[in-house]
Amino acid sequence: MTTPLVEMDGDEMTRILWKMIKDQLILPFVDLKVEYYDLGLVKRDETGDKITIEAAEACKKYGVGVKCATITPNAQRMTEYNLHQMWKSPNGTIRSIMDGTVFRAPITIPTIHPVVKNWEKPITIARHAYGDVYKNSELRVNGPGVAKLVFDGEDGSHQEAVIQEFKGAGVVQGMHNTDKSIRSFAHSCFKYAIDTKQDLWFSTKDTISKTYDARFREIFDEVFQEYKPQFDELGITYFYTLIDDAVARVIRSRGGFIWACKNYDGDVMSDMVSTAFGSLAMMTSVLVSPDGNYEYEAAHGTVTRHYYKYLQGEETSTNPMATIFAWSGALRQRGLKDGLEALVGFADALEAACFDTLGDGIVTKDLVNLMEGVTPKAVNSAQFIEAIRERLERRLG
Ligand code: NAP
Ligand code: MG
Repeated sequence: MTTPLVEMDGDEMTRILWKMIKDQLILPFVDLKVEYYDLGLVKRDETGDKITIEAAEACKKYGVGVKCATITPNAQRMTEYNLHQMWKSPNGTIRSIMDGTVFRAPITIPTIHPVVKNWEKPITIARHAYGDVYKNSELRVNGPGVAKLVFDGEDGSHQEAVIQEFKGAGVVQGMHNTDKSIRSFAHSCFKYAIDTKQDLWFSTKDTISKTYDARFREIFDEVFQEYKPQFDELGITYFYTLIDDAVARVIRSRGGFIWACKNYDGDVMSDMVSTAFGSLAMMTSVLVSPDGNYEYEAAHGTVTRHYYKYLQGEETSTNPMATIFAWSGALRQRGLKDGLEALVGFADALEAACFDTLGDGIVTKDLVNLMEGVTPKAVNSAQFIEAIRERLERRLG
C-alpha cells in the first residue's frame, strides 16, 4: 500500500468481529497501512466527539475509509456508558462533513433467493439524506383561516403562495431542499454508477410537484451532461421516471442497477428492498462524496443482543459478511486510486473466499433458514472466519 486507509473502529459485537477480521483475513496477507481512529463510544466521549470529526476529515484527505458499526447514544446508553453528552450519530457527522450519499447494496448468493423471484442481481439504493419531510415545519390549525408559504429574500424580494383557505381545523406542512445538496447528490450518484458500471435510475413525482420535484429532475439532467460521455463509453444509461412507475419496474426487473431516491422514498424503499433480498447481515453500505471520496461499512448496527451473550461467555454466530465486504470494498478502492493491482486482486480473492465458504454451505445462524438447495452447516463467528481464511489461502496459493 502507498496511501493509508482510514480505519474507524467501533462498538460491541462488531468491534469484536472487526479485530477477528483484521487478524485473520487482512494482516496475514496485506502489508496494511492505516490511519486508525477509535470511534468506539468510550473514546468518542473522552474526546468530546472530536475523534469523529478528525476521522471524517481524514476520509476527505486520503479519499478512502472503512468503518465499523458504532453506537448512536440514547438515554439508556447515557447511563450504561456514563456519558458526558448524548453524542450525535457518528454516521450523521461523517456524512455531513463528507457531504456524501449512502449507497446500500445486498451481497447476493445463488442459494439465497430474493422474495422477488426475478431479481437476479443486487439492487443498490441511493438515498438523498437531506431535507424534505425530515427537516420540515408543521402546524396544526384549529379553525378557518388562510395558510401561506412566504419567502423574504435578503435582497428585499418577496414571494408568497396560498397553501389552503381552511374552512375548519386541519394540518399544514412546509419543507425545503437546496440546489447545492441536490447537486451533490446527483454527482455522487453519477460517479458511483460509473464506478460500479451500473445503470442509474432516478425517480420523483414531478408531474404533481411541478416546482419542487421538478427542480430535482432539472438538476439531475444538468449534472448528467458532465458524465454523459463516460456513460456512453461504458454503455450504461441514466433513466428518469416517475416514482410509481419506478416501483412497478423495479419489481419486474432483474436487478443490477442503482435506484436514486428522494429522502423519504429512499427511507421506505431501502427497507423494502433489503428485506426482500434476505438479511440485514448481508447488506453493504458505502458513502460516496460528490468529489469522489469513499467510506465503506456494513449497513447493520453493533448487534447488541449478540454482544451481551458474548460478554456472558456464550458462543455467538454473528455474521461478519457485510463487515468483511466493507474491508474488501475499501481495499479495492484504495488499490484502484493508487494503481495497486495486487491490492485489487486481494480484495477480489477475499470476496471470492467468502462466496466459496457460503457455497460450501458453511454459514452463520442467521442464514440457515434462508438457504435453499443445500444443507447448511451453522458455525460460530470464529469458525466462519476460519473457514474463509482456509479458502483465501487456497485462492492466494
Ligand atoms: P443491529 O445491530 O443491526 O441488530 C438488529 C438485529 O439484527 C440483531 O439483534 C440481529 O438479530 C440482526 N443482525 C444484525 N446484524 C447482524 C449480523 N451481522 N449477524 C447476525 N444478525 C444480525 O440493530 P440494533 O440492535 O437496532 O442496534 C444496535 C446498535 O447499533 C445501536 O446502538 C445503534 O445505535 C447502532 N447502529 C449503528 C449503525 C451504524 O453504525 N451504521 C447502524 C444501525 C444501528 P437477532 O437478535 O434476531 O439475532
Ligand atoms: Mg427506514
